[in-house]
Amino acid sequence: MKSGIVYLVGAGPGDPGLITLRGLECLKQANVVIYDRLVNHSLLAYARRAELIDVGKQPNRHTMPQTEINALLIKKARAGNIVVRLKGGDPFVFGRGGEEAVALAKAGLPFEIVPGVTSAIAAPAYAGIPVTHRKMACSVAFATGHRADFIEDPTCDWRRLANSTDTLVFLMGVHNLSRIVEQLTTHGRSSDTPVALVEQATLTNQKTVVGTLANIVELAAEVRPPAAIIIGEVVRLRETLRWFDLPDRRPLLGLRILNTQPSSEAGELSWRLLALGAEPLELPTTQVAPVTDSSLLDAAINELCPKELSDTERNNQAYDWIILTSPNSASFFINRLFALGHDVRALAGVKLAVVDRNTAETLLEYGLVADFLPIGDTVRDIAAALGDRPHQRILVLCSDMLLADPRATTDLMDALCARGALIKKVAAYTIQPADPDPAALAALLDGSVNVAIFTSPPSLTSLTKTLDNRPVADVLSPLTVACIDPTTADAACALGVRVDLVAEEHTTEGLIDILVKWRTKGRL
Ligand code: SAH
Repeated sequence: MKSGIVYLVGAGPGDPGLITLRGLECLKQANVVIYDRLVNHSLLAYARRAELIDVGKQPNRHTMPQTEINALLIKKARAGNIVVRLKGGDPFVFGRGGEEAVALAKAGLPFEIVPGVTSAIAAPAYAGIPVTHRKMACSVAFATGHRADFIEDPTCDWRRLANSTDTLVFLMGVHNLSRIVEQLTTHGRSSDTPVALVEQATLTNQKTVVGTLANIVELAAEVRPPAAIIIGEVVRLRETLRWFDLPDRRPLLGLRILNTQPSSEAGELSWRLLALGAEPLELPTTQVAPVTDSSLLDAAINELCPKELSDTERNNQAYDWIILTSPNSASFFINRLFALGHDVRALAGVKLAVVDRNTAETLLEYGLVADFLPIGDTVRDIAAALGDRPHQRILVLCSDMLLADPRATTDLMDALCARGALIKKVAAYTIQPADPDPAALAALLDGSVNVAIFTSPPSLTSLTKTLDNRPVADVLSPLTVACIDPTTADAACALGVRVDLVAEEHTTEGLIDILVKWRTKGRL
């Protein structure tokens, strides 16, 4: 049988964005992923076809012994698998990656190392501490604090450690902080030396405590692992270079926020939440796709673009208005138009109305400027935009879910009918419940999420399936629930969910604004 291969991959220190492109590619290709406790579990979503084995937390709550991990790696590789051994930070920095690689080498199995961003570098960087600096520190050492209580340990030469490098970074040292301080000062390091402890580095709940060797034990009494300890003059630079944990610039710090948008759309909102200090967790409750039977959509497009177009027909379109009810309505409609061999000139004689700015922006990506964008009440404004001319022909493009639920568009339909419009409603795309991402779902259920964001009624109605029929209202009750618009808020209320925030402007920007306003009023 063809033997497999093991990739020892560094997952980075916590923020999933800090894995390397190569590491991500390995995860995508893996059949088996064997991962540790400190690895950000959201990375596992990339390992779509892999068996996932958690060796950091066994059912009896003990970690798997190293010899068993080595044996497991060998067994899975021998069975012909592409195995990713996913380790926190860098695999060769205090992660026993060296021991695992030796075991593989001895077993004659191929392996590759994919370095990661070690917490020894990332923790100081996210605290605004450069580990070297031309005028302050020309050397840095990484050390384990785990062994500080074994004074006689021959592998740890405290005299050398205390005096031979400018900057020292200790990992696994929180419990032994007082011993580390004692050893360093006993061996000649000045007690004025600045010290920082960075806990949960690179994550939204990162905390930093700064002091000196003289007082850090007292100041850091509340710090819990995982934390990195940075010792040296460079710690002083934090005063000038602090950037990550600045509440003024990053007002959503400390919040874990659930983004329920379909994965094809979630990126922008997640990016913005991250930039404001929050930790976005993507739990798409729905996914969007082209309609399975496109005959009605195609018929509407063919009406817009008859094959042989006389000049009169060119000026006399089949529709006066097209109303696009979401960004997806716009993109799926236009992509189908392209797929049928047309281009945007087919829309030259028809007016385009959108329900919100996000939809207008999607149109703009195709070089189309919306003729009408409501500024206040969507339904009233769109109806008013039609004017008083009766019998206007209107094509409403929406999702299949919206089409199937007449109540969802009753107000708009009533308002258009009242103006004597002739309406055709067609599904431009389908919305289906998505398979839940296990890591994000686990975070929601274990109570570690603070805020949940919903940007469409289906994102809520599909949540029941995501939650495997657990009552949505119960699961969401401890969270702050934010909705993009009143229609989405109504869908939440219908499920018995308490809505805390509704965006004033019904866009992702509006959602961000309301979250920041709420947060800066200090209501958490
Ligand atoms: N291979 C890892 C280190 C494993 S040892 C790496 O390169 O980062 C585990 C120790 O790493 C923890 O005890 C802690 O000291 C440090 N550590 C890991 N993740 C951390 C984080 N997010 N913030 C601060 N320290 C972290």
